[in-house]
Amino acid sequence: MKVFITGGAGFIGSHLSERLLADGHYVYILDDLSTGEMGNIESMIKHPRYEYRIGSVHDAPLVSELVDRADVTVHLAAAVGVKLIVEHPVHTIQTNVHGTEVVLNAAAKKQKPVLVASTSEVYGKSTRLPFREDHDLVLGPTTHSRWAYACSKALDEWLALAYFREKKVPTILCRFFNTVGPRQTGRYGMVVPNFALQALKNQDITVYGTGDQSRCFGHVRDAVEAITRLIQTPNVYGEVFNVGADREISIRGLAEAIRDAAGSSSKIVQIDYDKAYGEGFEDMNRRIPDCTKLEKAIGFRPKITLETIISDVLAEKREAIAAGNA
Ligand code: UDP
Repeated sequence: MKVFITGGAGFIGSHLSERLLADGHYVYILDDLSTGEMGNIESMIKHPRYEYRIGSVHDAPLVSELVDRADVTVHLAAAVGVKLIVEHPVHTIQTNVHGTEVVLNAAAKKQKPVLVASTSEVYGKSTRLPFREDHDLVLGPTTHSRWAYACSKALDEWLALAYFREKKVPTILCRFFNTVGPRQTGRYGMVVPNFALQALKNQDITVYGTGDQSRCFGHVRDAVEAITRLIQTPNVYGEVFNVGADREISIRGLAEAIRDAAGSSSKIVQIDYDKAYGEGFEDMNRRIPDCTKLEKAIGFRPKITLETIISDVLAEKREAIAAGNA
């Protein structure tokens, strides 16, 4: 296959590229290096089946050229990270909504298949657990910037499904739950890389809120496996899939697990949400995926354990600290 990946120099995009190249496919990527990094793709830039373009997903002629050349597009370019989203809501809405529109519009010309990345954030404050793809979405008020992310991604989903129904574009939607692993940066607030660095530097581990809120963490390798299978499965168009592991852990429990795995003497401290994200921040209490639909479609569900995730992230951060890059 020839696969075009938007956001290909990002965390998930770079892992996906490596996997597709290893499987013998051609990979074209586009990235504006806003949250993606050249360091993520360095090992691939000389590969004969790899091509990268630094540019924007808003650049319709460029996106169109790359969509046309590929057999399938994986649209990962988006504003992500709660900190980034709360601090730059205009950028978030524009990137997520307009970027997806550009990609779908390009795909519509020749009915090229597109997998669009969405997020578990769209379930919002729903308390109906585990979350299933056909459940109602429960978003907070428009006065809280966090929900702009969920809403922009929900709109991406409406748009992709509308292109499928009305313009016969074969679209697939993935709602990624907390996906973590090597190369994820803590710069935009993500909890696992932040805790890992704090633990390795014996600094205070900063738990926001009470720490009773929980998440399920999935390894990026599992997310990549799900994408790789979905784009090669013909009967999944016009469908939405949860992609995530289903082992729940409180954020305080996560802090303890990372501290212990790192053999760290860090203290675990509590920080108010207002201090971490600004006033009026609303968190989600629990978030658990139901991956029955995914497993039925592709014969796979994320299964790499939290212990492996933590040890992989610690190994990467240890190296980064030793190299003076963290
Ligand atoms: N969090 C934390 N300390 C940090 C970063 C995040 O306690 O340094 C918390 C955050 O408030 C949330 C959870 O960890 O409850 C997961 O945060 P992340 O930003 O990784 O993902 P999301 O909120 O999108 O699930």
